Amino acid sequence: MTVHVAPCAAPTADPTTREVRTESGQREVFCGLTGIVWLHRKIQDAFFLVVGSRTCAHLIQSAAGVMIFAEPRFGTAIMEEKDLAGLTDANDELDRVVTQLLARRPDIKLLFLVGSCPSEVIKLDLSRAALRLSQRFSPDVRILHYSGSGIETTFTQGEDACLASLVPALPAAQDDTPSLLVIGSLADVVEDQFKRMFDALGIGPVAFFPPRRSTALPSVGPNTKILMAQPFLPDTVRALQERGAKRLVAPFPLGVEGTTAWLRAAADAFGVSPAEFDKVTEPNRARAERALAAYKTELAGRRIFFFPDSQLEIPLARFLSRELAMQLVEVATPYLHREHLAEELKMLPLDVALTEGQDVDLQLDRCRAARPDIAVCGLGLANPLEAEGITTKWSIELVFTPIQGYEQAADLAELFARPLVRRAKLVA
Ligand code: SF4
Repeated sequence: MTVHVAPCAAPTADPTTREVRTESGQREVFCGLTGIVWLHRKIQDAFFLVVGSRTCAHLIQSAAGVMIFAEPRFGTAIMEEKDLAGLTDANDELDRVVTQLLARRPDIKLLFLVGSCPSEVIKLDLSRAALRLSQRFSPDVRILHYSGSGIETTFTQGEDACLASLVPALPAAQDDTPSLLVIGSLADVVEDQFKRMFDALGIGPVAFFPPRRSTALPSVGPNTKILMAQPFLPDTVRALQERGAKRLVAPFPLGVEGTTAWLRAAADAFGVSPAEFDKVTEPNRARAERALAAYKTELAGRRIFFFPDSQLEIPLARFLSRELAMQLVEVATPYLHREHLAEELKMLPLDVALTEGQDVDLQLDRCRAARPDIAVCGLGLANPLEAEGITTKWSIELVFTPIQGYEQAADLAELFARPLVRRAKLVA
């Protein structure tokens, strides 16, 4: 069985020469602290201590507000005015908070000190704090630091900074056995599906990064092959490459086509024959294509506009245009890593308008002029656009929801169909 290709999906030009509009200006994005919301669920013995202000605490609480935990695994060491004014020694305060936390929570094995705008403004050196506290609490607790500060970032960069900070802690591979390292947070259910698929293909050993437990960190070395599950991890990839790992060239596992090409990149690297690959993946591909068909009826021909937010925009646009025949009005992304996204760019229609960066007023003007059927955007833009009659999809939901792999392809399509159906009912 072959993947359905939409009529608009003509073969495209060299991705390195594609024309991209670059914009800078006012931005409407969440900061990197937001990544804590999904990372704390993924690494189950980690704690994320934001060193920040009440604003940072509110952001985390409201972003994570849908989840209720008896013992949450994130918190904020709130810097009061006297800290910000330099009237107290913020390092002493931080040591006191960490000591209290670890005494109360012996289940914490990995503590991230997460920097914020306020901690950076007062130049609180969290790298030294992490080193100092590590000496005190090692080996029971590993203490690392990264920045989630939001001045020039978007929210998925928090995961990149977090994982990059963890790379130096990975043990060195002890032998020459080739291994696969899948990087980027995936829902456990998706991870389990991929693990079964790799097992069926005879690919292994396979590890996922971040791991579910910090006490089971994957090893890395020159025979480690990196397969990116998320497109927003350039610093993590660089840090792993500095440890000798090699990145496999692949698109991202969104939709049937992306998942197949992603798995095939691993299969090729591990010498799996094309016949064996087809035999293992065919039933899943066929099932996923059948499930997608219903959504194609709903979505084909609908016009979609992406505001830059999650960094998932380009793989999503590729999936929606090629497998569901949606029309791409504009695809904007906060940062365009041409090397990591090369396979995706090759598959986008030639005439799509690509934008890197944000000048929100100009983008809103273009969106209003184009009147797309649906706009994918951050929470801050969704309400005004809905009020103007433009249906929206929150991009942050696409990071929280399991969307990768064959089993989730139809669920991903549904995420775009649902708001359109709802709007149709409202205006009927
Ligand atoms: Fe805190 Fe800065 Fe994020 Fe605002 S943008 S929540 S001040 S880190």
